[in-house]
Amino acid sequence: MGRMLIFILIGYFIYLLVKKSSAGKIGKKQEKVEEETFRDPVCGVYVAADDAVIGRHDGARIHFCSMACLEKYQEQVAHTPA
Ligand SMILES: [Zn+2]
Repeated sequence: MGRMLIFILIGYFIYLLVKKSSAGKIGKKQEKVEEETFRDPVCGVYVAADDAVIGRHDGARIHFCSMACLEKYQEQVAHTPA
């Protein structure tokens, strides 16, 4: 019976360690900064940096929701007299 009790104590100790380490991981997840978003100047939709199609105009980086919007923007810029 004594041996059984030691195994239970060891099991409980491991359980506490696992619980502690998983709680630490959850704490780190909550610290994650919200993803940066950019406004598509063509359709006005907000897009995450990871999903955006990036176009360039006068050296500036412009974020679009899709290639269609990027093409529309380039067309608009080309038709606008400087
Ligand atoms: Zn768009």
